[in-house]
Order: sequence, then C-alpha cells, then structure tokens
Amino acid sequence: MSPAVSIKGLIKNYGRVKALRGLDLTIETGQIFCLLGPNGAGKSTLIKAIVGAVRPTSGTVEVLGHSMPMEARLARTRLGYMPQVPALYEDLSVRANVKFFGRSHRLEDLNRRIDRVLDFVGLLSLSGRRTGTLSGGLKQRCSLACALVHEPELLLLDEPTAGVDPVLKEGFWKHFRSLTEKGVTIVISTHLMDEPLICDRIGLLREGFMILEDTPENIVAMGKTDVRFDRNGKSFTERVGDYSRELPEMLKRYGLDQGISRISLHQEKLEDILLRIIRERKRDAE
Ligand code: ADP
Repeated sequence: MSPAVSIKGLIKNYGRVKALRGLDLTIETGQIFCLLGPNGAGKSTLIKAIVGAVRPTSGTVEVLGHSMPMEARLARTRLGYMPQVPALYEDLSVRANVKFFGRSHRLEDLNRRIDRVLDFVGLLSLSGRRTGTLSGGLKQRCSLACALVHEPELLLLDEPTAGVDPVLKEGFWKHFRSLTEKGVTIVISTHLMDEPLICDRIGLLREGFMILEDTPENIVAMGKTDVRFDRNGKSFTERVGDYSRELPEMLKRYGLDQGISRISLHQEKLEDILLRIIRERKRDAE
C-alpha cells in the first residue's frame, strides 16, 4: 500500500523566517502520527503544507497520491482538516456550519451524516445554537464535526483536544482508533503528553527540523532512571539507562552496603525524554 503522506526535502520560508528546513517524512496509511515540538517548531506549517494551504519554498509533498498544492482541490475531497483556531461562521448555527462543510463535498444523505457527527462530538442538543455564542471547547468540537462530516481518508488535526474535557477526549481517541482500523490515516499535533503514547509514531520538530521520528515504545525505551541511594545519612544519585539490568550490577558494586537504608528510583517520563533530546540535539547542532 502506498503511504498516505510522502514528503521530500520540504523547505518553507516566510520571508526571512525559516519555518521548515528540509524535511523528509513518510506517514503510512492507517497510522496515527503525532507531531510534537515547542511553539514555533513548524508543526502548523507542516500540517498546512500537507493540506495544500501553504506553498513549499522547495521540496515535494504528496498526499493520497496527489502532488500538493497543485492538486489540492482533488485531494481536499479526501482530507479533513481541523485548524488550531476554529474557522467557523460565527453567525451560523452549529448545524449550519457542519452543513456548509458537508455541502462543499456534495454528499448524499447529508442530514443523516450531520446528525451522526454532531452526536459523536456531543453537540446534537446544541445544534441550533449560534456558533459565536459557544465556548472555546465547544467551538473546537464543532470544528471537529466539520472535519469529519465527509468521512475523509486522511484527517489532519491541529491540537484537537486542547480544552476538551477528559471523558469526551477519551471518546475522541476511541473514535480516532476505530477510524484507523477502517484505513483512515490521522496526523495530530498536541501539547498534551498522554496522547503521543497512544499514537503509532511520534515526530519531534525543533526549529524546522524533524529531530526524532520513532514509535512511542522506542522513545520511552530511551528514558533514563535516576537511582538515589541514602547511605549513612548522605545521599547520592546515579543515572542509568535500563535500570532493570543495571540496578543489580550497581548493588553488586556497592556490595549491598549495610549503610544503605533506602533506594529510590525516578524514571524519566515521555516529556522529560523529549525535552532532553531537544536540548541534546540543540547542543550537537551548535
Ligand atoms: P508551531 O505550529 O510549531 O508553533 P508554526 O508552523 O506556527 O509553528 O511556525 C513556525 C515558524 O514560522 C515560527 O517562527 C512562526 O512565527 C513562523 N510563521 C508561521 N506562520 C507564519 C506566517 N504566515 N508569516 C510569517 N511567519 C510565520
């Protein structure tokens, strides 16, 4: 099966700002790909390049077999895009907004689809409300409904769950997974550190470079553990990689010192690992 997204040598400059600096990326069909990185790293620009909303300075972007942005019009019938800032018609009702997006795709059975998607995002009872009166979180849910109504093959979600309550967020993720089981590909950017762990692959962007791209399991395995020994009223800490193998060696080295009264472990979390990698690779680049 050909990949959903294939990007080679992508450079995007906004005047003097180098937003993307030569990016290669392949996203396989049916995967959830998570984009992470500090503010200004280039996540939104990358998503916009995939949607065909920004023209690359150089390099190629192929999406579902279409060259972007030249074939964006064709590709857009098969894409769903939820921007970071919801692009909704504030004077229109929730239902009318979703209908507007659905109409642009000339769908059969539109009313039934709208009901289904509004029910899914939990907005069915608010479908008559003017969108401008909704809170930020509710607007986001409406924006997600607009991105989903035409049942796209590739979904691009720029921070879709920021401001969404935990119960609904869990429901979204179940739905995203059920979509990928049907062959839908999802690209998602997020600031929340529990979400990358349930994606298939993670890409870490920094200053327009993809500095790491791997599975969550492999990235978590890069984590270090600080082992702290309290001995005779003093404490010292050693940093190790795989503590399950290295701890027995350390204990042998210390000969199970009678003075050791306590051993505590502090394992790096995903966020710690990613921040360390961002710092380490920054030092390497300097
Ligand atoms: P992220 O989504 O990771 O926060 P962005 O892709 O929004 O990053 O931004 C990458 C860089 O490009 C930043 O330095 C940002 O200020 C700049 N940038 C983004 N959009 C524009 C634009 N339309 N015009 C000028 N600079 C932009």
